[in-house]
Amino acid sequence: MSAIGYKSGKLHIENVALEKIAETHGTPVYCYSAEQIADNFRAWQSALRKVMPDDKFTICYACKANSNLAVMKLLGGLGAGADVVSGGEMHRAFRAGIPGGKMVFSGVGKSEAELATAIKNGLMLINVESGSELRLISKIAQRENTRANISFRINPNVDAKTHAKITTGLRENKFGIDLEDAAAFYREAKAMPGILPTGVSIHIGSQLTDLAPFEEAFTHLAGLVAQLRQQGHAIATLDLGGGLGITYKDEVPPDLGQYAALIRDIILPLGVHVVLEPGRSIVGDAGILLTRVLHKKEGHTKKFLIVDAAMNDLMRPALYGAYHPVIPCNAPAAGQAQAVVDVVGPVCETSDTFLTDTALPENITAGDLLAIMVSGAYGAVMASNYNTRPLVPEVLVHDGKFDLVRKIQKIEDILNDDIVPGWLA
Ligand SMILES: *Cc1c(COP(=O)(O)O)cnc(C)c1O
Repeated sequence: MSAIGYKSGKLHIENVALEKIAETHGTPVYCYSAEQIADNFRAWQSALRKVMPDDKFTICYACKANSNLAVMKLLGGLGAGADVVSGGEMHRAFRAGIPGGKMVFSGVGKSEAELATAIKNGLMLINVESGSELRLISKIAQRENTRANISFRINPNVDAKTHAKITTGLRENKFGIDLEDAAAFYREAKAMPGILPTGVSIHIGSQLTDLAPFEEAFTHLAGLVAQLRQQGHAIATLDLGGGLGITYKDEVPPDLGQYAALIRDIILPLGVHVVLEPGRSIVGDAGILLTRVLHKKEGHTKKFLIVDAAMNDLMRPALYGAYHPVIPCNAPAAGQAQAVVDVVGPVCETSDTFLTDTALPENITAGDLLAIMVSGAYGAVMASNYNTRPLVPEVLVHDGKFDLVRKIQKIEDILNDDIVPGWLA
Protein backbone atom coordinates (compact mmCIF):
# COMPACT_ATOMS: atom_id res chain seq x y z
CA MET A 1 0.00 0.00 0.00
CA SER A 2 1.20 3.50 -0.75
CA ALA A 3 1.76 5.86 2.16
CA ILE A 4 0.62 8.80 0.03
CA GLY A 5 -3.06 9.17 -0.84
CA TYR A 6 -6.34 11.01 -0.23
CA LYS A 7 -8.18 10.76 3.07
CA SER A 8 -11.44 12.72 3.57
CA GLY A 9 -10.70 14.77 0.48
CA LYS A 10 -7.18 15.83 1.49
CA LEU A 11 -3.88 14.42 0.30
CA HIS A 12 -2.04 12.72 3.18
CA ILE A 13 1.39 11.28 3.70
CA GLU A 14 0.81 8.48 6.19
CA ASN A 15 -1.68 10.10 8.58
CA VAL A 16 -0.51 13.66 8.10
CA ALA A 17 -2.35 16.07 5.80
CA LEU A 18 0.17 17.72 3.48
CA GLU A 19 -1.67 20.97 4.10
CA LYS A 20 -0.41 20.82 7.70
CA ILE A 21 3.18 20.44 6.65
CA ALA A 22 2.84 23.43 4.31
CA GLU A 23 1.34 25.52 7.12
CA THR A 24 4.22 24.65 9.44
CA HIS A 25 7.22 24.76 7.11
CA GLY A 26 6.03 26.65 4.04
CA THR A 27 6.52 25.55 0.45
CA PRO A 28 8.25 24.17 -1.49
CA VAL A 29 9.10 21.34 0.90
CA TYR A 30 10.15 17.72 0.39
CA CYS A 31 8.07 15.26 2.42
CA TYR A 32 9.09 11.65 2.97
CA SER A 33 7.24 8.74 4.56
CA ALA A 34 9.42 6.75 6.96
CA GLU A 35 6.96 3.88 6.75
CA GLN A 36 7.16 3.71 2.97
CA ILE A 37 10.98 3.82 3.00
CA ALA A 38 11.05 1.04 5.61
CA ASP A 39 8.47 -1.01 3.69
CA ASN A 40 10.50 -0.72 0.50
CA PHE A 41 13.68 -1.78 2.28
CA ARG A 42 11.96 -4.70 3.97
CA ALA A 43 10.55 -5.84 0.63
CA TRP A 44 14.14 -6.10 -0.64
CA GLN A 45 15.22 -7.92 2.50
CA SER A 46 12.42 -10.45 2.42
CA ALA A 47 12.81 -11.16 -1.32
CA LEU A 48 16.51 -11.89 -0.78
CA ARG A 49 15.95 -13.89 2.41
CA LYS A 50 13.74 -16.24 0.42
CA VAL A 51 16.73 -17.29 -1.69
CA MET A 52 19.69 -17.03 0.71
CA PRO A 53 20.53 -16.73 4.40
CA ASP A 54 20.98 -13.30 5.97
CA ASP A 55 24.76 -13.50 6.21
CA LYS A 56 25.17 -14.14 2.48
CA PHE A 57 24.07 -10.69 1.32
CA THR A 58 24.41 -7.00 2.17
CA ILE A 59 22.01 -4.38 0.89
CA CYS A 60 24.17 -1.28 0.47
CA TYR A 61 21.66 1.54 0.02
CA ALA A 62 22.89 3.80 -2.80
CA CYS A 63 22.71 6.96 -0.76
CA LYS A 64 23.17 9.31 -3.69
CA ALA A 65 19.43 8.77 -4.29
CA ASN A 66 18.61 10.51 -1.00
CA SER A 67 21.42 11.11 1.44
CA ASN A 68 19.53 12.98 4.13
CA LEU A 69 21.01 11.84 7.43
CA ALA A 70 17.61 10.95 8.87
CA VAL A 71 16.84 8.75 5.87
CA MET A 72 20.24 7.07 6.10
CA LYS A 73 19.90 6.59 9.84
CA LEU A 74 16.48 4.99 9.33
CA LEU A 75 17.85 2.58 6.73
CA GLY A 76 21.02 1.86 8.71
CA GLY A 77 18.82 0.91 11.66
CA LEU A 78 16.98 -1.61 9.48
CA GLY A 79 20.29 -3.25 8.58
CA ALA A 80 21.27 -1.41 5.42
CA GLY A 81 24.87 -0.82 4.48
CA ALA A 82 25.75 2.04 2.14
CA ASP A 83 26.99 2.49 -1.39
CA VAL A 84 28.80 5.83 -1.43
CA VAL A 85 30.20 7.69 -4.43
CA SER A 86 32.12 10.52 -2.74
CA GLY A 87 33.97 11.44 0.42
CA GLY A 88 30.96 13.51 1.43
CA GLU A 89 28.61 10.57 1.20
CA MET A 90 31.10 8.41 3.10
CA HIS A 91 31.04 10.94 5.92
CA ARG A 92 27.26 10.96 5.89
CA ALA A 93 27.18 7.17 6.09
CA PHE A 94 29.57 7.14 9.05
CA ARG A 95 27.56 9.90 10.73
CA ALA A 96 24.44 7.79 10.22
CA GLY A 97 26.18 4.97 12.11
CA ILE A 98 26.78 2.65 9.18
CA PRO A 99 30.04 0.74 9.72
CA GLY A 100 32.83 0.71 7.12
CA GLY A 101 32.48 -3.06 6.93
CA LYS A 102 29.05 -2.54 5.34
CA MET A 103 30.14 0.19 2.97
CA VAL A 104 31.01 0.06 -0.72
CA PHE A 105 32.82 2.92 -2.44
CA SER A 106 31.82 3.36 -6.10
CA GLY A 107 32.48 6.02 -8.70
CA VAL A 108 34.62 6.64 -11.73
CA GLY A 109 36.80 9.44 -10.30
CA LYS A 110 37.84 9.00 -6.68
CA SER A 111 40.45 11.37 -5.27
CA GLU A 112 43.48 10.40 -3.21
CA ALA A 113 41.98 11.95 -0.08
CA GLU A 114 38.69 10.06 -0.56
CA LEU A 115 40.48 6.77 -1.15
CA ALA A 116 42.66 7.31 1.91
CA THR A 117 39.56 7.78 4.09
CA ALA A 118 38.04 4.61 2.62
CA ILE A 119 41.20 2.57 3.18
CA LYS A 120 41.78 3.81 6.73
CA ASN A 121 38.20 2.93 7.62
CA GLY A 122 38.41 -0.60 6.20
CA LEU A 123 35.56 -0.36 3.72
CA MET A 124 34.04 -3.66 2.68
CA LEU A 125 34.83 -3.00 -0.97
CA ILE A 126 36.27 -0.34 -3.23
CA ASN A 127 34.94 -0.63 -6.77
CA VAL A 128 37.88 0.21 -9.00
CA GLU A 129 37.26 1.65 -12.44
CA SER A 130 40.75 2.15 -13.92
CA GLY A 131 44.39 1.12 -13.75
CA SER A 132 45.29 4.57 -12.57
CA GLU A 133 42.93 4.24 -9.61
CA LEU A 134 44.30 0.77 -8.82
CA ARG A 135 47.86 2.08 -8.58
CA LEU A 136 46.75 4.94 -6.34
CA ILE A 137 44.98 2.52 -3.97
CA SER A 138 48.08 0.34 -3.81
CA LYS A 139 50.22 3.36 -2.93
CA ILE A 140 47.86 4.51 -0.16
CA ALA A 141 47.37 1.01 1.27
CA GLN A 142 51.15 0.48 1.50
CA ARG A 143 51.55 3.83 3.20
CA GLU A 144 48.83 2.84 5.68
CA ASN A 145 50.41 -0.58 6.09
CA THR A 146 47.21 -2.37 5.18
CA ARG A 147 45.50 -4.12 2.30
CA ALA A 148 42.36 -2.90 0.58
CA ASN A 149 39.58 -5.21 -0.59
CA ILE A 150 38.84 -4.19 -4.13
CA SER A 151 36.67 -5.29 -6.97
CA PHE A 152 36.77 -4.11 -10.53
CA ARG A 153 33.61 -2.65 -11.92
CA ILE A 154 33.10 -4.62 -15.08
CA ASN A 155 31.32 -3.06 -17.99
CA PRO A 156 29.43 -6.05 -19.39
CA ASN A 157 28.39 -4.15 -22.52
CA VAL A 158 24.67 -4.85 -22.10
CA ASP A 159 21.95 -2.42 -23.06
CA ALA A 160 19.88 -1.64 -19.98
CA LYS A 161 17.18 -0.24 -22.31
CA THR A 162 16.65 2.71 -20.03
CA HIS A 163 17.12 6.45 -20.53
CA ALA A 164 20.40 7.24 -22.36
CA LYS A 165 21.58 9.51 -19.54
CA ILE A 166 21.23 6.77 -16.92
CA THR A 167 22.57 3.86 -18.97
CA THR A 168 25.99 2.90 -17.65
CA GLY A 169 26.73 -0.64 -18.86
CA LEU A 170 27.48 0.00 -22.53
CA ARG A 171 30.98 0.03 -23.91
CA GLU A 172 30.76 3.70 -24.88
CA ASN A 173 29.79 4.73 -21.32
CA LYS A 174 32.58 6.07 -19.12
CA PHE A 175 31.99 3.44 -16.42
CA GLY A 176 33.90 0.28 -15.59
CA ILE A 177 36.48 -1.74 -17.45
CA ASP A 178 35.81 -3.88 -20.51
CA LEU A 179 34.89 -7.48 -19.83
CA GLU A 180 37.66 -8.70 -22.10
CA ASP A 181 40.31 -6.68 -20.23
CA ALA A 182 39.21 -8.04 -16.84
CA ALA A 183 41.66 -10.96 -16.68
CA ALA A 184 44.63 -8.64 -17.27
CA PHE A 185 43.43 -6.21 -14.57
CA TYR A 186 43.00 -8.97 -11.97
CA ARG A 187 46.44 -10.37 -12.82
CA GLU A 188 47.99 -6.93 -12.34
CA ALA A 189 46.06 -6.34 -9.10
CA LYS A 190 47.04 -9.69 -7.59
CA ALA A 191 50.71 -8.89 -8.03
CA MET A 192 50.36 -5.45 -6.49
CA PRO A 193 51.17 -4.72 -2.85
CA GLY A 194 48.31 -3.50 -0.67
CA ILE A 195 45.60 -4.90 -2.94
CA LEU A 196 43.24 -7.82 -2.34
CA PRO A 197 41.21 -8.32 -5.55
CA THR A 198 38.38 -10.28 -3.93
CA GLY A 199 35.32 -8.89 -5.68
CA VAL A 200 33.67 -8.29 -9.02
CA SER A 201 31.12 -5.50 -9.51
CA ILE A 202 28.60 -4.32 -12.07
CA HIS A 203 26.01 -1.59 -12.25
CA ILE A 204 24.36 -1.42 -15.63
CA GLY A 205 22.05 1.54 -15.27
CA SER A 206 19.11 3.01 -13.43
CA GLN A 207 15.32 2.80 -13.71
CA LEU A 208 15.41 -0.62 -15.41
CA THR A 209 11.96 -2.06 -15.90
CA ASP A 210 13.01 -5.25 -17.67
CA LEU A 211 14.90 -8.11 -16.01
CA ALA A 212 16.48 -9.37 -19.24
CA PRO A 213 19.49 -6.98 -19.13
CA PHE A 214 20.16 -8.10 -15.51
CA GLU A 215 20.02 -11.73 -16.59
CA GLU A 216 22.46 -11.06 -19.40
CA ALA A 217 24.84 -9.12 -17.16
CA PHE A 218 24.69 -11.75 -14.36
CA THR A 219 25.48 -14.46 -16.90
CA HIS A 220 28.55 -12.57 -18.14
CA LEU A 221 29.56 -12.05 -14.52
CA ALA A 222 29.26 -15.74 -13.62
CA GLY A 223 31.39 -16.65 -16.64
CA LEU A 224 34.01 -14.15 -15.59
CA VAL A 225 34.11 -15.43 -12.00
CA ALA A 226 34.69 -19.00 -13.23
CA GLN A 227 37.50 -17.77 -15.47
CA LEU A 228 39.11 -15.68 -12.72
CA ARG A 229 39.01 -18.56 -10.26
CA GLN A 230 40.69 -20.80 -12.82
CA GLN A 231 43.42 -18.20 -13.02
CA GLY A 232 43.91 -18.44 -9.26
CA HIS A 233 41.91 -15.46 -8.00
CA ALA A 234 39.94 -15.89 -4.77
CA ILE A 235 36.71 -14.13 -5.72
CA ALA A 236 34.50 -13.94 -2.63
CA THR A 237 32.11 -11.03 -3.26
CA LEU A 238 29.87 -10.06 -6.16
CA ASP A 239 28.40 -6.58 -6.21
CA LEU A 240 25.38 -6.59 -8.50
CA GLY A 241 24.74 -2.84 -8.42
CA GLY A 242 21.35 -1.16 -8.25
CA GLY A 243 19.02 0.05 -10.92
CA LEU A 244 15.60 -1.47 -10.32
CA GLY A 245 12.95 0.80 -11.76
CA ILE A 246 9.84 2.25 -10.13
CA THR A 247 6.52 3.60 -11.40
CA TYR A 248 6.49 7.26 -12.36
CA LYS A 249 3.78 7.05 -15.00
CA ASP A 250 2.83 3.62 -16.23
CA GLU A 251 6.09 1.68 -15.95
CA VAL A 252 5.76 -1.78 -14.47
CA PRO A 253 8.71 -2.28 -12.11
CA PRO A 254 10.49 -5.62 -12.15
CA ASP A 255 9.25 -8.09 -9.56
CA LEU A 256 11.67 -8.37 -6.62
CA GLY A 257 10.93 -12.07 -6.26
CA GLN A 258 11.87 -12.67 -9.88
CA TYR A 259 14.99 -10.54 -9.47
CA ALA A 260 15.97 -12.61 -6.42
CA ALA A 261 15.29 -15.80 -8.40
CA LEU A 262 17.79 -14.63 -11.04
CA ILE A 263 20.37 -14.21 -8.28
CA ARG A 264 19.51 -17.67 -6.94
CA ASP A 265 19.86 -19.30 -10.35
CA ILE A 266 22.91 -17.50 -11.74
CA ILE A 267 24.89 -16.04 -8.84
CA LEU A 268 24.39 -18.27 -5.78
CA PRO A 269 25.94 -21.39 -7.35
CA LEU A 270 29.20 -19.42 -7.26
CA GLY A 271 29.17 -19.43 -3.44
CA VAL A 272 29.89 -15.72 -3.05
CA HIS A 273 28.73 -12.94 -0.75
CA VAL A 274 26.21 -10.82 -2.66
CA VAL A 275 26.11 -7.02 -2.47
CA LEU A 276 23.10 -5.09 -3.80
CA GLU A 277 23.02 -1.32 -4.28
CA PRO A 278 19.40 -0.21 -4.65
CA GLY A 279 18.70 3.52 -4.41
CA ARG A 280 15.66 4.70 -6.31
CA SER A 281 13.56 1.64 -5.48
CA ILE A 282 14.02 2.29 -1.73
CA VAL A 283 13.15 5.98 -1.55
CA GLY A 284 11.61 7.10 -4.87
CA ASP A 285 7.93 6.54 -4.18
CA ALA A 286 8.28 7.50 -0.50
CA GLY A 287 8.66 11.20 -1.22
CA ILE A 288 6.85 14.13 -2.76
CA LEU A 289 7.74 17.72 -3.41
CA LEU A 290 4.97 19.88 -2.02
CA THR A 291 4.45 23.14 -3.87
CA ARG A 292 1.98 25.99 -4.00
CA VAL A 293 0.48 27.60 -7.09
CA LEU A 294 1.76 31.17 -7.30
CA HIS A 295 -0.09 32.29 -10.38
CA LYS A 296 -2.48 31.01 -12.97
CA LYS A 297 -1.70 32.45 -16.37
CA GLU A 298 -3.71 32.13 -19.54
CA GLY A 299 -1.80 32.81 -22.74
CA HIS A 300 -3.22 32.80 -26.25
CA THR A 301 -2.47 29.15 -26.81
CA LYS A 302 -1.65 27.79 -23.37
CA LYS A 303 -2.67 27.84 -19.76
CA PHE A 304 0.07 27.78 -17.14
CA LEU A 305 0.11 26.96 -13.48
CA ILE A 306 3.20 28.71 -12.12
CA VAL A 307 4.27 26.97 -8.92
CA ASP A 308 6.81 27.91 -6.26
CA ALA A 309 8.96 24.81 -6.84
CA ALA A 310 11.43 24.93 -9.70
CA MET A 311 14.05 23.01 -11.63
CA ASN A 312 16.68 23.88 -9.03
CA ASP A 313 14.60 22.03 -6.40
CA LEU A 314 13.77 18.99 -8.57
CA MET A 315 16.04 18.73 -11.56
CA ARG A 316 14.92 15.45 -13.11
CA PRO A 317 12.37 16.86 -15.57
CA ALA A 318 14.84 19.46 -16.87
CA LEU A 319 17.80 17.07 -16.82
CA TYR A 320 16.27 13.91 -18.26
CA GLY A 321 12.84 14.95 -19.46
CA ALA A 322 11.63 12.82 -16.55
CA TYR A 323 7.92 12.56 -15.82
CA HIS A 324 6.55 13.21 -12.33
CA PRO A 325 2.79 13.17 -11.82
CA VAL A 326 1.39 16.33 -10.24
CA ILE A 327 -1.79 16.04 -8.21
CA PRO A 328 -3.82 18.56 -6.19
CA CYS A 329 -3.83 18.32 -2.40
CA ASN A 330 -7.58 18.87 -2.43
CA ALA A 331 -9.18 15.79 -3.96
CA PRO A 332 -11.16 16.79 -7.06
CA ALA A 333 -14.93 16.45 -6.69
CA ALA A 334 -16.63 13.81 -8.82
CA GLY A 335 -17.28 15.24 -12.28
CA GLN A 336 -14.93 18.17 -11.73
CA ALA A 337 -14.12 19.81 -15.09
CA GLN A 338 -10.52 19.53 -16.21
CA ALA A 339 -8.27 22.01 -17.96
CA VAL A 340 -5.17 21.26 -20.02
CA VAL A 341 -2.24 23.15 -18.49
CA ASP A 342 1.54 23.34 -18.24
CA VAL A 343 2.93 23.19 -14.71
CA VAL A 344 6.02 25.38 -14.60
CA GLY A 345 8.42 26.86 -12.06
CA PRO A 346 9.58 30.47 -11.68
CA VAL A 347 13.17 29.98 -12.91
CA CYS A 348 14.25 31.82 -16.05
CA GLU A 349 14.68 28.74 -18.22
CA THR A 350 12.15 27.16 -20.54
CA SER A 351 13.29 23.77 -19.24
CA ASP A 352 11.88 24.79 -15.84
CA THR A 353 8.74 22.83 -16.70
CA PHE A 354 7.34 19.99 -14.61
CA LEU A 355 4.51 18.96 -16.94
CA THR A 356 3.35 19.95 -20.39
CA ASP A 357 -0.26 19.69 -21.59
CA THR A 358 -1.54 17.83 -18.59
CA ALA A 359 -5.15 17.62 -17.42
CA LEU A 360 -5.75 19.04 -13.96
CA PRO A 361 -8.95 20.23 -12.27
CA GLU A 362 -10.01 23.50 -13.87
CA ASN A 363 -10.69 25.14 -10.50
CA ILE A 364 -7.08 24.94 -9.31
CA THR A 365 -5.98 28.47 -8.63
CA ALA A 366 -3.30 30.62 -6.99
CA GLY A 367 -2.69 29.53 -3.40
CA ASP A 368 -3.62 25.89 -3.97
CA LEU A 369 -1.24 23.13 -2.98
CA LEU A 370 0.05 20.55 -5.45
CA ALA A 371 2.14 17.44 -4.86
CA ILE A 372 4.88 16.56 -7.33
CA MET A 373 4.85 12.83 -6.86
CA VAL A 374 7.56 10.16 -6.71
CA SER A 375 10.23 12.70 -5.77
CA GLY A 376 11.99 10.82 -2.96
CA ALA A 377 14.93 9.75 -5.15
CA TYR A 378 17.31 12.09 -6.99
CA GLY A 379 15.24 15.06 -5.84
CA ALA A 380 16.63 17.04 -2.88
CA VAL A 381 20.11 15.62 -3.47
CA MET A 382 20.36 17.29 -6.88
CA ALA A 383 19.02 20.66 -5.76
CA SER A 384 21.04 23.81 -6.30
CA ASN A 385 20.88 27.49 -5.43
CA TYR A 386 20.29 28.53 -9.03
CA ASN A 387 18.54 31.90 -9.20
CA THR A 388 19.65 32.33 -5.55
CA ARG A 389 16.79 30.14 -4.48
CA PRO A 390 17.34 28.64 -1.01
CA LEU A 391 17.57 24.84 -0.77
CA VAL A 392 14.20 23.38 0.04
CA PRO A 393 13.61 22.02 3.56
CA GLU A 394 12.88 18.32 4.03
CA VAL A 395 10.38 16.69 6.36
CA LEU A 396 10.18 13.07 7.49
CA VAL A 397 6.78 11.75 8.51
CA HIS A 398 6.68 9.02 11.12
CA ASP A 399 3.97 7.64 13.33
CA GLY A 400 1.47 10.43 12.70
CA LYS A 401 4.04 13.18 13.29
CA PHE A 402 6.43 15.07 11.08
CA ASP A 403 9.93 16.33 11.76
CA LEU A 404 12.05 18.80 9.88
CA VAL A 405 15.08 16.77 8.76
CA ARG A 406 16.72 19.49 6.74
CA LYS A 407 16.37 23.03 7.92
CA ILE A 408 15.18 25.90 5.81
CA GLN A 409 18.07 27.67 4.17
CA LYS A 410 17.96 31.45 4.42
CA ILE A 411 18.89 33.78 1.58
CA GLU A 412 21.36 35.37 3.99
CA ASP A 413 23.10 31.95 4.34
CA ILE A 414 23.64 31.88 0.60
CA LEU A 415 24.93 35.44 0.38
CA ASN A 416 27.28 34.91 3.32
CA ASP A 417 29.26 32.37 1.31
CA ASP A 418 30.20 34.91 -1.36
CA ILE A 419 33.33 36.97 -0.77
CA VAL A 420 33.73 40.49 -2.11
CA PRO A 421 37.47 41.21 -2.36
CA GLY A 422 38.86 44.17 -0.47
CA TRP A 423 39.49 46.22 -3.59
CA LEU A 424 35.73 46.26 -4.29
CA ALA A 425 34.58 46.88 -0.75
C1 LIG B 1 23.39 5.26 -8.91
C2 LIG B 1 24.01 3.98 -8.52
C3 LIG B 1 23.26 3.01 -7.85
C4 LIG B 1 21.79 3.18 -7.53
O1 LIG B 1 20.99 3.13 -8.65
P1 LIG B 1 19.38 3.14 -8.49
O2 LIG B 1 18.92 3.16 -9.88
O3 LIG B 1 19.02 4.36 -7.74
O4 LIG B 1 19.01 1.89 -7.78
C5 LIG B 1 23.90 1.85 -7.48
N1 LIG B 1 25.21 1.65 -7.74
C6 LIG B 1 25.96 2.55 -8.39
C7 LIG B 1 27.38 2.28 -8.65
C8 LIG B 1 25.38 3.75 -8.81
O5 LIG B 1 26.12 4.65 -9.46
